[in-house]
Amino acid sequence: MTRIMVCGMGGTIAMTPVPGGGVEPALTTEDLTAAVPGLAALGLDLALVDVQNEPSSSLRLEDVVALSRTIADRLAAGADGIVVTQGTDTLEECAYLLDLLHDGPQPVVVTGAMRNPALAGADGPANLLAALTVAASPAARGRGVLVAFADEVHAAARVRKAHSGRVAAFESAAGGPVGYLVEGTAHFVSPPSRRFVVPRGKRVPRVPVIVATFGEDAPAVPGDADGLVVAAFGAGHLPRWWVEPLAEAIARIPIVLASRTLAGPVLSATYAYPGSERDLLGRGLVPAGLLDPWKARMLLLATLAAGADRDQVAGAFAAAGGLGDPGRWPWRE
Ligand code: ASP
Repeated sequence: MTRIMVCGMGGTIAMTPVPGGGVEPALTTEDLTAAVPGLAALGLDLALVDVQNEPSSSLRLEDVVALSRTIADRLAAGADGIVVTQGTDTLEECAYLLDLLHDGPQPVVVTGAMRNPALAGADGPANLLAALTVAASPAARGRGVLVAFADEVHAAARVRKAHSGRVAAFESAAGGPVGYLVEGTAHFVSPPSRRFVVPRGKRVPRVPVIVATFGEDAPAVPGDADGLVVAAFGAGHLPRWWVEPLAEAIARIPIVLASRTLAGPVLSATYAYPGSERDLLGRGLVPAGLLDPWKARMLLLATLAAGADRDQVAGAFAAAGGLGDPGRWPWRE
């Protein structure tokens, strides 16, 4: 029998109505799995672990790092795959951080729900069934952390919540889903891509994101930041009056240049004006490649936690950002 651990972290999938109105996390992984029609037919040996029961806006980075340890321990003890149920609001960040810290071939599949279990057409049971199906699928091995949602399978490095209310809330701007659930089977439409795994560090560094807003003065860079992500306009552009303050900050900390458009690349060789991508990269900012600012923050956090120096940070983004030399990844595969 295929052994799958289900880790419950909370989110809408586990929420029930409360007396004053609205819903809050309450259901256990036993409740969640009991509500899935057709689960027994998968013939899985399930281990259910209620790790936390939080809205995903209140999960902490440390919680995800701890979850990654629990996952690694369970996989080392012989589990064939893992399913994580959690809130959708921060799923794109949690899944990518788990991906960066997951060094085994076993599938780890994250899912959640947009409609709580008390609503007509609640999507939690279907998404959980899909996640379990993917986690048990040999074709999912070697693909790192995946997200199963609305019968699509996404790579953790690319997926994002692209709609606040739609049931099919997740998309992958760079390349689309890597697979689909069809008649109860996981089908992959692209080959596994190279994995980028970061050694787990001892502490979680502070990496804020600064978002460029039209006509705004340059924001202060927090003095206790270990690194910074700038979500710039378009393909990596800032007001020219932001350049000097950032150039001062870069003497102190690594700064990654990402796009606030949340889709498409940061360029490197097209525009030459002050505040352009050429100007900023020439001053030492690191291009995020195809990673959006929230994914770039997870990669910068993980690399700094692992003790990466500036050159290694740049190498990590060249490789995992998808537009540079994968050979620059600082750690072994
Ligand atoms: N607010 C919820 C959460 O992220 C939304 C969801 O789960 O879909 O916990």
